[in-house]
Amino acid sequence: MKTVLRFEMGKTLFFSFMLLVVGVIAAGQSEQEREKPPTTPRAPSAQVYWNRPTLSPNALAPLPLGSVKPRGWLRRQLQIQADGLTGHLDEFWPDVGPNSGWLGGTGESWERAPYYLDGLVPLAFLLEDERLIAKAKKWVDWTLAHQRADGRIGAELGKGKYATARQESDTWWPNMVMLKVLTQYQEATNEPRVIPVMERYFDYQMKLLDRQPLNEWAEHRWADEVLSIIWLYNRTGNRSLLDLARKLHAQSYDWKAHFADFKYKQKVTKAQENLHSHGVNNAMAIKTSAVWSQISGDESDRTAVHQLLSELDRYHGQANGIFSCDEHYAGLDPAQGTELCTVVEAMFSLEQTFAILGEPMLADRLEKITFNALPATFKKDMWAHQYDQQVNQVMCSVAPRAWTSNGPDSNIFGLEPNFGCCTANMHQGWPKFAASLWMATHEGGLAAVAYAPSRVDARVRGDVEVAILEDTDYPFRDTVRLTVYPAAPVRFRLQVRIPAWAQGATVTVQGTQETNVKPGSFHTLEREWKYGDVVELRFPMALRATGQYRGGVAVNRGPLVFSLLMGEEWKQIKGEPPHADWEVYPTTPWNYGLVIDPGNPDRFLTVKERQVGEMPFSPDGAPVRLIAKGRRIPEWKLVAGSAGPLPPSPVRTQEPEETLTLIPYGCTNLRVTVFPLVPATTGPPSAQAGVGLTAATLHTTRIR
Ligand SMILES: [Zn+2]
Repeated sequence: MKTVLRFEMGKTLFFSFMLLVVGVIAAGQSEQEREKPPTTPRAPSAQVYWNRPTLSPNALAPLPLGSVKPRGWLRRQLQIQADGLTGHLDEFWPDVGPNSGWLGGTGESWERAPYYLDGLVPLAFLLEDERLIAKAKKWVDWTLAHQRADGRIGAELGKGKYATARQESDTWWPNMVMLKVLTQYQEATNEPRVIPVMERYFDYQMKLLDRQPLNEWAEHRWADEVLSIIWLYNRTGNRSLLDLARKLHAQSYDWKAHFADFKYKQKVTKAQENLHSHGVNNAMAIKTSAVWSQISGDESDRTAVHQLLSELDRYHGQANGIFSCDEHYAGLDPAQGTELCTVVEAMFSLEQTFAILGEPMLADRLEKITFNALPATFKKDMWAHQYDQQVNQVMCSVAPRAWTSNGPDSNIFGLEPNFGCCTANMHQGWPKFAASLWMATHEGGLAAVAYAPSRVDARVRGDVEVAILEDTDYPFRDTVRLTVYPAAPVRFRLQVRIPAWAQGATVTVQGTQETNVKPGSFHTLEREWKYGDVVELRFPMALRATGQYRGGVAVNRGPLVFSLLMGEEWKQIKGEPPHADWEVYPTTPWNYGLVIDPGNPDRFLTVKERQVGEMPFSPDGAPVRLIAKGRRIPEWKLVAGSAGPLPPSPVRTQEPEETLTLIPYGCTNLRVTVFPLVPATTGPPSAQAGVGLTAATLHTTRIR
């Protein structure tokens, strides 16, 4: 396996460094003197748009695309993505190639180009990468320049691959994705054609919806369009837009009722499969009630997300923070799969839901999925991906597995295993997460929503420009350092999220420790900020053993879940590198039970930290490892290419104790994550497996 990587000292890093150096020797200089303007577009306007009346207020407002820039490991990760499939897919994959219907051609004319752009646009502007910006611009220009006289946008009806679009209603869904592309592009460039094109399109759709109502995908994914409608309404104030949103709602599937009386409590059967049990639809539905609450003003719409997450966790939840769907609800077994589209759509839903509701637990969940399920399902150079990942994934090969509906190639790493939707849709994951790290709060404040090395540029109270540099190796380390650079001393609120797991968290401002820091909340710092003020956060990452399926256990540290490090052999089965298809076979045993005292995980686990390198999400690059004890369970065997049924814990075994290495889930390709418990052969009787893990704690600690 050859990995080609290009690591550059990014512009942002360079500017940040300069800003620090110059800041130290010449505090008080103007913004222009401190930092040269960048050579590529940034957010041209720092204007933040809040919900207008009559919408319910949103708790936070997303910053315009370009306000947050990745640094450190996050920038390297985005560069890996740009050097992998995202930066090159249009060069060889026909579905987003020059013959696409979204470029006027006769090729694919449905969702794939909009999906691709929904990730390419934010990646291009976050990296300020001229090559990628030029690629994205070509597509956006075509859509903006080819709106029909009646307001319709997009590819021609009934042309090209998947030419199922025989009527306008079949285009409602792919157009929803393109609207998200246009709003992001407008924020990054101030492109003047975007808003008029959207206005004409919504007028056109309003006229047609009675005759051409939402159907199929659009009926289940309508909230994604409401995001764009509200985006436009907050800019123009045209109240007829809210009538359009109400009409969409009236024609849509009722997700709130779906979860209020949840009927899918087990892995679904073929006969039960439908668009309601479909994993990606469910991930997109995470946001639906909260999005709608802005128009309905109904408190029960604001709280519905809790019922949704609780039902998904209880019946289909997995240790990596997401739920099983391969590609329908697949139950609690850690050998079931989760589709990549579901992972990135759940992330986007959580980012949007968080902005509306402002509840810290939603950002905890976002981090868990981002730092675990997202990186795990890519080949580490991001030139290949899986359709389905498994929490216990001991072999990736073309073989029939116990999926609900997916094909035999669903868990290999490839260009388009099983079906090409994820090949088109996967790109939005990392860039939208990076863009959502910071958001605006009311009265000109800023909130640190999720943590990763970054820089945010925004206007705060009194329209004063502020840059905040975030230096951290989180989630691999427990400290975050924020350095605040206002253009002039200014008083505003800086809110920092304290993760729910961070017992004993500390917040220090200019060396003075804050009191009343509560995990699971935002801590508010309001003061007059001066150039170079430093906030230091520490989130102690105690090891946590969480109860899982059949009495098994998963090990967590901070937002990271840990998995068995396995030997692996990659076998190319199709295609040409770098975009080939690969099977992955284990070269070391996997059928271990874990020796652990769930009430005191430190007793049998040792933490080893290593430098956060060029590719932190890889087996070799794992920046933190846990040294553990385990014993093999001979009767736990491979069944149909997957780890067989998880033996109920605790498990008796005569096998000797061995030393095991666990690494972050997101660093693995093959892994065991949910372990059966086995007794220690040495140590005090109180250290016997199972001690401290009661049925009650199992229920309350599962999937957090
Ligand atoms: Zn997919």
